[in-house]
Amino acid sequence: MKNLTRREFQMMLASGALGAALAKTDSAVAQTNANSRPTTKGQRLGDFKPFVFAVIADPQIGMVENARDRHNFAQVVKAVNNLTQDVRPDFALIAGDLIQTPEDSAQLSLFDEVNKSFAMPVHTIPGNHDIPDKQRMVDQAAVARYRKTRGSDRFTIEHGDSLFIGYNSQLWLGGGAYADEQFKWLDAQLHNRNRYAYVFVMQHHPLYLTAAGETDQYFNTPLVWRTRLLPLFEQRRVTAVLSGHWHRNLSGNYRGIEMLTTPSPCKNFDGSAYGYRLVSVTSDGFTERYVGVPGTLPENKPS
Ligand SMILES: [Zn+2]
Repeated sequence: MKNLTRREFQMMLASGALGAALAKTDSAVAQTNANSRPTTKGQRLGDFKPFVFAVIADPQIGMVENARDRHNFAQVVKAVNNLTQDVRPDFALIAGDLIQTPEDSAQLSLFDEVNKSFAMPVHTIPGNHDIPDKQRMVDQAAVARYRKTRGSDRFTIEHGDSLFIGYNSQLWLGGGAYADEQFKWLDAQLHNRNRYAYVFVMQHHPLYLTAAGETDQYFNTPLVWRTRLLPLFEQRRVTAVLSGHWHRNLSGNYRGIEMLTTPSPCKNFDGSAYGYRLVSVTSDGFTERYVGVPGTLPENKPS
């Protein structure tokens, strides 16, 4: 595909022509979600170098069936790897729930096997199926085990003029000293906000589903931490919060912060295709869309 201006890219996104332009292999774009729309925010930056990144949420190997779930995750990774030119991601992010059963070695092996096939750097965070909780109280011993066996449960990366921060939202579920420490760390990461054009934050749980003040439930972030995180992100002018866990396609805006929840390659409750979110960042803001991947298998779990 030839180099596109931002306007041409947006027009192609709007018309669906992007999918056709990308359809070079069997893993190229086949479906797009009607809820996708361009988002523009941020300041104009003369020398900003545009880039693209991909977000995958809840590969959750074992949620339906190990081999089938591995296949779907592999198809999605292959589709991301096959993106070219203007939509080639510089890196990928995985928003937690790597596997279904915490610490299950067979599921972890399948996840790792596919995760290694990314053709670009990939950064992951854990979800509630990676570090378990009981009645929304995180198992603190499992946090320590995760860090020991899987490595860090958070990351900060700088890419171009942008900052990406991922962390462990299971700690917001009664994480005690772990949660306090993580909040301080997050605050410190955001301290030099003004050095960056954009700041993207990723945690497994959406902060909220329909209203910032909604009551706690399985799919959102406990109010006790939500009421600290939202003001922090607003004050630091966070560009977007990326999440998963909901197994549905959800987007919203909280006082200028985009809230983007990505569906799963494994199982979705809103009929979303199995796929990934593609985010294109330019000097004018960013555009994003959720992309379904052909060759993924439907659920066929025996009852
Ligand atoms: Zn989850």
